[in-house]
Amino acid sequence: MNVLIVLAHPEPQSFNGALFDTAVSTLHEAGHHVATSDLYRMGFNPVSGRHNFTTVKDPAFLKLQVEESHASETHGFALDIEAELQKLEAADVMIWQFPLWWFGLPAILKGWVDRVFAMGRVYGYGHIYDTGRFRDKRALLSLTTGGPAEAYVPGGFNGDLDAILRPIHRGMLQFTGFSVLQPAVHWQPAHVEPAARQDWLDAWAERLRHIEQEAPIEVGQY
Ligand SMILES: Cc1cc2nc3c(=O)[nH]c(=O)nc-3n(C[C@H](O)[C@H](O)[C@H](O)COP(=O)(O)OP(=O)(O)OC[C@H]3O[C@@H](n4cnc5c(N)ncnc54)[C@H](O)[C@@H]3O)c2cc1C
Repeated sequence: MNVLIVLAHPEPQSFNGALFDTAVSTLHEAGHHVATSDLYRMGFNPVSGRHNFTTVKDPAFLKLQVEESHASETHGFALDIEAELQKLEAADVMIWQFPLWWFGLPAILKGWVDRVFAMGRVYGYGHIYDTGRFRDKRALLSLTTGGPAEAYVPGGFNGDLDAILRPIHRGMLQFTGFSVLQPAVHWQPAHVEPAARQDWLDAWAERLRHIEQEAPIEVGQY
């Protein structure tokens, strides 16, 4: 199986870094081919613009989806985006490893989606949801929080985590055809004992050893 792991954390020694390292080594040892996009270490530019493309459809007015469609037809993506597109297209399973920031993705990962999930090559022209180009692929969000689990339930002070993740699960992953696996959530890693964190890393590795057999979840409508 080909696995793509995308990491969005500025500190390699963070718990996110440990979850990422665990995933890379576990999946590699299980015989899978592992590609990575460690966005901070790559210096990935998350800001969209004309630099997304080597081609120009309309020099007078920048409409990103028009330029994306044109680039899809003419091999016109900038090298950094083309490299990410090829990793995405090769992946059977994609894992995003990130801390929850402002109830969402860190900007560097949101910008990766903005630039790489391009109209034409990734979605559109009849290819969304069940007819999405990535309908044979699965995706898994692996995230950490600063808040406690009991804050992220219906009626909790932050509200239901499933609802918070829905724009990602439904609007980015299922929209492009991915089936969604149960998210891996590690609550408040900065507030538990080191032994508990080690147990979490061991459990994460054990889950990943069987990921090939894991069935997708339903994403609620809310
Ligand atoms: C801009 C911003 C917005 C935020 N918004 C939200 C929000 O909306 N909701 C929310 O809940 N939180 C929010 N937070 C908090 C954030 O989600 C947490 O700080 C983050 O998820 C914690 O994960 P970490 O990897 O950064 O932890 P770290 O603090 O890096 O790690 C925790 C501990 O794990 C240790 N560790 C590292 N490697 C290992 C290892 N191999 N084995 C054992 N221990 C290890 C580290 O040394 C550290 O002591 C926000 C934070 C920021 C900066």
